[in-house]
Amino acid sequence: MKKTIKDLNIDNKKVIIRCDFNVPLKDGKITDDTRIVKSLPTIKYSIEHNAKIILMSHLGRVKTEEDKTKNDLSVVATRLSELLDRNVTFINSTRGEELENAISNMQDGDIILMQNTRYEDLNGKKESGCDMELAKYWASLGDIFVNDAFGTLHRAHASNVGISTYLPSCVGLLVEKELSALSYLFDPDKPFMIILGGAKVSDKIGLIENLLPKCDKILIGGGMAFTFLKAEGYNIGKSLLDEESVEFCKKILKENENKIILPVDVICNNEYLDTTGKVKDITELTNDDMGLDIGPNTVNIFKNNLASAKTVMWNGPLGVYEFTNYVKGTNEVLTYLTEINAKTVIGGGDIVAATSACNVTDKLYHISTGGGATLEYLEGKELPGLKNIEEK
Ligand code: AMP
Repeated sequence: MKKTIKDLNIDNKKVIIRCDFNVPLKDGKITDDTRIVKSLPTIKYSIEHNAKIILMSHLGRVKTEEDKTKNDLSVVATRLSELLDRNVTFINSTRGEELENAISNMQDGDIILMQNTRYEDLNGKKESGCDMELAKYWASLGDIFVNDAFGTLHRAHASNVGISTYLPSCVGLLVEKELSALSYLFDPDKPFMIILGGAKVSDKIGLIENLLPKCDKILIGGGMAFTFLKAEGYNIGKSLLDEESVEFCKKILKENENKIILPVDVICNNEYLDTTGKVKDITELTNDDMGLDIGPNTVNIFKNNLASAKTVMWNGPLGVYEFTNYVKGTNEVLTYLTEINAKTVIGGGDIVAATSACNVTDKLYHISTGGGATLEYLEGKELPGLKNIEEK
């Protein structure tokens, strides 16, 4: 286990905390503050220890001057201040005198949030390209570095890997919680069931290869199920097909005959539209059909397989959950998971949004905040953001 903020003495020190405040915005307003809320334990711990808290985060992508206005981090300072009921000073720059003066005038317990680290990308991709001069400059602003941005651990940026090269570093409480919940899946209580959905098989090949030997069953739905069904020889009509992954699907279906459960029925439409669909057996699809959700018999088969589970990992929705007519399969299986005696880990990405829309977030063991980071960790890859952080 990596050193956490609790393993270093942060009392009265200048602590740089890299958070993931990459929140969704609409018309300049935050539409979901989950990522800010998840960063609170580390910030509160630092306040309790009288640290001087310097917060950094990226927000969106910054490729043009216009992107700067769209991805101005000041809205996060306002929301964070409300959540903490405490002043958060926003500094509208990522380097220079204003930032340096503000930091040198900090009192114990003060909080500063500096502007979006990706503003530095306009200047030759210095943040995303992990420019070491920039990293060294940022490191010079503090005494200790805390990486609590789980969602960017799979990226080598100046504000994570870069700074940790120059300062005593550790992970924050969110990263600690994520890593311990996800690593539980490497040695889980059995039966261990995996539910996979979403769009593309190719995004999940590493995950399937790494976790397949450890699990008892994989239940596959969503768009990706059709590539497996195609590999089995079914007519999938106009349903989503990830052509380049058909051979991979054939291979793992052959090697894991009884482990992989595919839909036996689906809800089809003729177009990619949120209008009422028709339940069809998987043998009945015509060239005009587009499968947009799993059918009721499949939901029952999934439930029967999950009934005895002790551990469940789920990545990717089982249908087009954004459409009210095609969210049923995902919601029914999610609700069922709250009724059984299993530890369920929701493995990041779109299924997290489906979980909160279904109001089951508080009833499941762990909802991962990362998309790519979660997948890469579960694939067994070393995450660059952890590279410079010592083991305990
Ligand atoms: P992923 O990022 O791979 O987890 O994919 C999530 C996306 O898969 C969501 O936008 C879903 O709408 C989409 N999806 C799920 N099931 C289907 C389906 N049967 N057909 C088309 N798209 C789907």
